[in-house]
Amino acid sequence: MKVLVAVKRVVDYNVKVRPKSDGSDVDLANVKMSINPFCEIAVEEAVRLAEKGIATEVVAVSVGSQQSQEQLRTALALGADRAILVETDAALEPLAIAKCLKAVCDSESPDLILMGKQAIDGDNNQTGQMLSALLGCSQATFASELSVADGKATVVREVDGGLQTVELSLPAIVTSDLRLNEPRYASLPNIMKAKRKPLDVTNPADLGVDVTARVSLLGVELPAERQAGIKVEDVAMLVDKLKNEAKVI
Ligand code: AMP
Repeated sequence: MKVLVAVKRVVDYNVKVRPKSDGSDVDLANVKMSINPFCEIAVEEAVRLAEKGIATEVVAVSVGSQQSQEQLRTALALGADRAILVETDAALEPLAIAKCLKAVCDSESPDLILMGKQAIDGDNNQTGQMLSALLGCSQATFASELSVADGKATVVREVDGGLQTVELSLPAIVTSDLRLNEPRYASLPNIMKAKRKPLDVTNPADLGVDVTARVSLLGVELPAERQAGIKVEDVAMLVDKLKNEAKVI
């Protein structure tokens, strides 16, 4: 069984992002970039399937700039067998990414496609669903458990107020939620080994995909700063402040 894992290069989750001085976009100068945390969970799940002898090959795919090779090398160090970069410097929307991934799926024919439920930069939560529609294959989003047997995937999904278990026929797309697993750290020998694993580079034009944006970013801004709180001496003072200053009662 071949597993394809989609990984995105994003601003590291520890970084507090800031807008550029002209507010035109997020300032990415000298900012630490990493593999999207949900994609890391997807890679871990694929590698676990390989370790159980269920997956025979794990292919990591990213769509983005040449620097996305760093995140693909991380996926290779975590245990993926080979990687494909669809290289472009264009500002990418989920539909364009899904079309590029579809073109890769058409040539790779994976049985299972693992993705993150969401990229922490754009917070779109769209790419997996769009890819499923383009491929016409089944999907299970927000997965917190996955098992694969007899050409079927059984997925426990995190839904509002509980868990839902679904069975999908393969090929299928599964998007990972936070509790699917805890990703391993890449060991130094595996980081060294990853440098020699195959990483093929293609681009949207060669895949026949037009990635022209349909949405224009008009600006970004920080949320309004919250005022510092105060300590009140007693309930009477609290009530007075709520009534006369905040005017909420
Ligand atoms: P999003 O729909 O942007 O929230 O992203 C959901 C998931 O789609 C991510 O966790 C990735 O698995 C995949 N994805 C999004 N953008 C890319 C990209 N540029 N390259 C590869 N995979 C991506």
